[in-house]
Amino acid sequence: MADVEMSGERETFAFQAEINQLLSLIINTFYSNKEIFLRELISNSSDALDKIRHESLIDKSKLDTQPELFIRIVPDKVNKTLMIIDSGVGMTKEELVNNLGTIARSGTKEFMEALQEGADVSMIGQFGVGFYSAYLVAERVVVTTKHNDDEQYIWESHAGGSFTVTRDINGEPLGRGTKITLFLKDDQLDFLEERTIKDLVKKHSEFISYPIYLWVEKTTEKEVSDDEEEEKEEERQKINKQKPIWLRKPEDVNKEEYCSFYKSLTNDWEDPLHWKHFSVEGQLEFRAILFIPKRAPFDLFDTKKKLNNIKLYVRRVFIMDNCEELIPEYLGFVKGVIDSDDLPLNISRETLQQNKILKVKRKNIVKKCIEMFSEIAENKDDYAKFYDAFSKNIKLGIHEDSQNRAKLADLLRYYSSNSGDEMTSLKDYVTRMKKGQKDIYYITGESRKAVENSPFLERLKKKGYEVLFMVDAIDEYAITQLKEYEGHKLVSATKEVLKIEETEEEKQQKEEKRKSFENLCKVIKDILGDKVEKVVVSDRIVDSPCVLVTGEYGWSANMERIMKAQALRDSSISAYMASKRTMEINPDNGIMEELRKRAEADKNDKSVKDLVLLLYDTALLNSGFSLDDPNTFSARIHRMLKLGLSIEEDENAGVEEMPSLEEDQAEESKMEEVD
Ligand code: ADP
Ligand code: MG
Repeated sequence: MADVEMSGERETFAFQAEINQLLSLIINTFYSNKEIFLRELISNSSDALDKIRHESLIDKSKLDTQPELFIRIVPDKVNKTLMIIDSGVGMTKEELVNNLGTIARSGTKEFMEALQEGADVSMIGQFGVGFYSAYLVAERVVVTTKHNDDEQYIWESHAGGSFTVTRDINGEPLGRGTKITLFLKDDQLDFLEERTIKDLVKKHSEFISYPIYLWVEKTTEKEVSDDEEEEKEEERQKINKQKPIWLRKPEDVNKEEYCSFYKSLTNDWEDPLHWKHFSVEGQLEFRAILFIPKRAPFDLFDTKKKLNNIKLYVRRVFIMDNCEELIPEYLGFVKGVIDSDDLPLNISRETLQQNKILKVKRKNIVKKCIEMFSEIAENKDDYAKFYDAFSKNIKLGIHEDSQNRAKLADLLRYYSSNSGDEMTSLKDYVTRMKKGQKDIYYITGESRKAVENSPFLERLKKKGYEVLFMVDAIDEYAITQLKEYEGHKLVSATKEVLKIEETEEEKQQKEEKRKSFENLCKVIKDILGDKVEKVVVSDRIVDSPCVLVTGEYGWSANMERIMKAQALRDSSISAYMASKRTMEINPDNGIMEELRKRAEADKNDKSVKDLVLLLYDTALLNSGFSLDDPNTFSARIHRMLKLGLSIEEDENAGVEEMPSLEEDQAEESKMEEVD
């Protein structure tokens, strides 16, 4: 590199802090499968080749700088270097500085955390930092690169906190593309062996769609010549198969080949959970292989990441990944390739948006995806894994995809009041419905524990009705769209609409109770004022004194909790959506009966007021709302405790820890004097 130094253009850059940490981790930790570096670098070359190929479809002249598209691996035992060369798009100086060192991807930190939690280093590619795996085997890395829009540059680093970038004035011109030179550590020289490299390419990179050539030295002794000099010849061997797997008949492809193709396509280190290889003929012509991963990626719902993982090919030529028109966002976790025979090669993103063919394709793909999910559902263990990883996507689909809503609903699973340790499908729920039960009941909340013993379920449980526990925030969204399943309305146990079927006798009894508690309801409403919309006699609670229910179309308590947790919510919307609460009281509860008597005797009874306020706060809590004012609530409880323990209230001392129960402290102390 001496010649470069002489040019005097060397610039030094510090690695961004997290990247620097990552590099230390890679260099200083022992990893057994260092070999994955080759897969990562080849995958980067393949990406770079995809990019230039795509650009060239629109502007052919972009290939002029280097018409052949290839990846070349050159081991050099004398210098102990391994070079990976590609004729891809290359990097401009700016890209070189940004992509290889100064701008950290969101995955950098996540990957380090994953490593610390015991993740395998081979996962690196999934986190978008695969390049740095070069330092698993190299003590020094030099990247020479030429982009059509810039000069040739050299990036170089020992990884000790900084890297340099220099204009390459004297080096051999690449034409276009990138050459990575790895100066191997002394104990990693096995990666220079022909056999090792061939095996690795076969293992990890067989399905790369560009030819991978290995340069091997051929030493031939010249017999005839006079001088004893050996002649060194270089020979290139193509070492990957490269015929696209999707062009083969499914019955001719074995499981290992699918898994290996999947891994090279996605950088995943695990086999896929499930896949589907199919072709569509007739109205449209395309072939596809779709895969479901075993796990959700770390950035499943990161809005900045690319929206999907489907690579679009047209007649074997890669066009683009991330084609939004091919698959809806909620299926963004499905990976695969689609090779179309009926799109033009030079299709641009803009024309794709209007393309009718693509719309029909998309329909087809969604259908196949849902078929795949149902196939997975046939195996309990697999489905548990799938559901754990992607249930949020299914629910998002229910929210967004009205056409497939019903089919997606079959894929839902919930714990319920009857389900025990296994989740139930809606289909199974329906088979267990009680005679005369028309609706499907559910309750939403923060956790299974929080809803399991909710007062809202008292009456439903008593009648033997099963209630689904919806404890995922997204359930609230999905359920507002789903509304019904196989003709059965989905009814929330916490909303006003809940009507439990009752016998004539029950109706009669209820009517009598309603009458005798009419007065108490009015008294309570007066005390609570705007806090509640109305106060009525409940038919959903059996044990608890009262609950707060919300309107059918407004937010449930759980939804209010979710929205409050979202920092940037529009408070005017929440004021509007936070639904009016109705207090439902239980006429069979002893507290209510006592209150009724006291209110009857004296409608200004101070104890009635205190109790009602306390009941309101506890109802907030056990109905899933948060307390408006926890301090007042605690003070009220303390006061009750003192009453229970017959401790006299100390008027002078206790002011701090005993704030007034209500605004009207003056009135209160007067009353106590009277007492
Ligand atoms: P990822 O491949 O997930 O983007 P990497 O750490 O492997 O992450 O690579 C970082 C970036 O460096 C790539 O996105 C690309 O912009 C650039 N890069 C790496 N290798 C090459 C290459 N051979 N040709 C062109 N650009 C490359
Ligand atoms: Mg990469």
